Amino acid sequence: MIDSHCHLTIISKKAKEIEALLKRANKEGIFYFIDVGVNPNDIEFRLELLRDAEGVYLTAGYYPDYASLYTDVDLDAFKLKIKKANENKKYLYAVGEIGLDYYHNDLNKKDQKIFFAKLINVASEVNLPIVIHTRDAFKDTFDILKEEKHPERGILHCFTGNVKEAKKALDLGYIISFSGIVTYSKSDFLREVAQYVPSDMYTIETDSPYLTPQKLRGRSNEPAFIPYIAEVIAECRGESPSFVMKNALENTRRVLNFPLID
Ligand SMILES: [Zn+2]
Repeated sequence: MIDSHCHLTIISKKAKEIEALLKRANKEGIFYFIDVGVNPNDIEFRLELLRDAEGVYLTAGYYPDYASLYTDVDLDAFKLKIKKANENKKYLYAVGEIGLDYYHNDLNKKDQKIFFAKLINVASEVNLPIVIHTRDAFKDTFDILKEEKHPERGILHCFTGNVKEAKKALDLGYIISFSGIVTYSKSDFLREVAQYVPSDMYTIETDSPYLTPQKLRGRSNEPAFIPYIAEVIAECRGESPSFVMKNALENTRRVLNFPLID
């Protein structure tokens, strides 16, 4: 089973601690981990620490926080880093997280939109799917995706939209990723989405160390907590948690195309 979005090197910078937390996840049946990047400078360190960890696959991200800070030289360097990392063997399986975040900053919407559009094109150029972060910005996110030559495959990470917005993602062929937010008491709208989405169009993530599931709130989140999210989704769908987690793995694999461990 999989945690489709976590930040292992934000949880810990120490190889030993990461090893221990991966083991805790293994004990819960989680054997695949998508470690998601947030800026070009995290790529080398994450590769160094995680390259040889079994079942851990990486992405290269450029968070919307940088929308008013980057230069085109930075963007070229980002693209080059991805190409170089994947030159002899594939280490990076997606571009993301990238996207729009009007919740944290709605004063630079124009910058964010341009930045996101450029990054979508980077993903197309390096021939990788995208992992999208979108918060309070659904309309612009979909408008930009429609305008740009976007990759065929993608994940809307930490989905917080309603059924109507979910449908838009599905129409694009992008899958929806549910985080611990689906377990929160105020998230009825999200549990409706969990009920609505077809079996082949969703996945599950912790976004750890953030967004700890309801039952464990107060603790730092980690991949071992995936079953707490799967349990709620399974309940919404009238299915078993293991079936839900199996779909999550298959769907993420279809989108990111990483190898199975033997
Ligand atoms: Zn994240």
